[in-house]
Amino acid sequence: MSYLTLKDINKIYPNGYHAVHNFNLEIDKGEFIVFVGPSGCGKSTTLRMIAGLEDISDGEFLINGVRANEMGPREREIAMVFQSYALYPQMTVFDNIAFGLTLQGVDEDVIEQKVKKTAAILGLTDYLDRLPRALSGGQRQRVAIGRAIIRKVGVFLMDEPLSNLDAKQRVTMRSEIAQIHHETGATTIYVTHDQTEAMTLADRIVVMKDGYVQQVGTPYELYYKPVNVFVAGFIGEPPMNFIRGTVKGGKILFGNNALDITKKLGDKAKKYEGKEIVFGFRPEHIELGEVKDAYLVKAEVELTEMLGDNTNIYITAGEDKAILKVDPHDTPEVDTAITFSIPVKEVYLFDGETEMVIE
Ligand code: ADP
Repeated sequence: MSYLTLKDINKIYPNGYHAVHNFNLEIDKGEFIVFVGPSGCGKSTTLRMIAGLEDISDGEFLINGVRANEMGPREREIAMVFQSYALYPQMTVFDNIAFGLTLQGVDEDVIEQKVKKTAAILGLTDYLDRLPRALSGGQRQRVAIGRAIIRKVGVFLMDEPLSNLDAKQRVTMRSEIAQIHHETGATTIYVTHDQTEAMTLADRIVVMKDGYVQQVGTPYELYYKPVNVFVAGFIGEPPMNFIRGTVKGGKILFGNNALDITKKLGDKAKKYEGKEIVFGFRPEHIELGEVKDAYLVKAEVELTEMLGDNTNIYITAGEDKAILKVDPHDTPEVDTAITFSIPVKEVYLFDGETEMVIE
């Protein structure tokens, strides 16, 4: 039996807005689950329903197989780390971390031992006497996490916990959260709009859009086996390139380049004659020049961005545009013509009407 079960969960706010539609998910103990999607897609609403901070309009939430819809937040044994750290400014780091246990009247010796252990996991041992204002943003966030993990709870919920940090702190804190999860083994549900955070932290990712789950899978599955155009475009940076076209004689046009979809689909291509298709390929999955078993494309270089470990090349072919990711040593000149190859096995085709991947 799974630890947490979300069965056909729906949220309709009192104003009638249907924020979450038929959300289904089984979560095992110890899993790190990330809800990802653009702002407003229903991630926080779902998390808040799990926390017990928001009523579930329809469907069932089970903990260890027991219905939990009516349980209060405490009864669910769930701790939540919010976007804003919400630390007590007049209390030391020690007292902030200890706060929940102090409220519960836990023995002082036990509190001291637990706070020290938690501080050690979080690298806060040297800061226990400080007030929050004497800490960096990253340290404050660690205190907030410490306050959540010191309680013996089954599940940690984190809602965009890194959004108040600068880019560098975010990267550091991201690996710390992964480390904390590794050490505590606690079941974690983490909300973010950032696909990199999702990819680097998650055991499994739930991609959401407009209140609907699009796909649930490991980072590997989402990157290599996206089920639709949305997931394919959301996971990966720069995003997957999409060329839309109507199939004529088994081909669509990418600028003046005819892309023969029978190479990918064989006889199945006939079904799409006269229909719109989306041809997708990732910037990093191309080869400059000509290689075997590939789509050959001629294009113009519009702009290049040298990023150190790679260069992004913005190309145009007629009305179509795409981004290619290449080794900086192979960076072409702007305004020159280039030829590149997209290996057939790296191409994704989607039905232009349903936007679903064509297997
Ligand atoms: P996310 O976390 O993915 O950014 P939210 O779950 O916060 O999205 O919100 C999902 C949708 O529900 C949004 O369109 C938001 O405006 C709406 N919403 C959130 N809270 C309320 C509320 N209390 N009443 C009505 N609509 C709400």
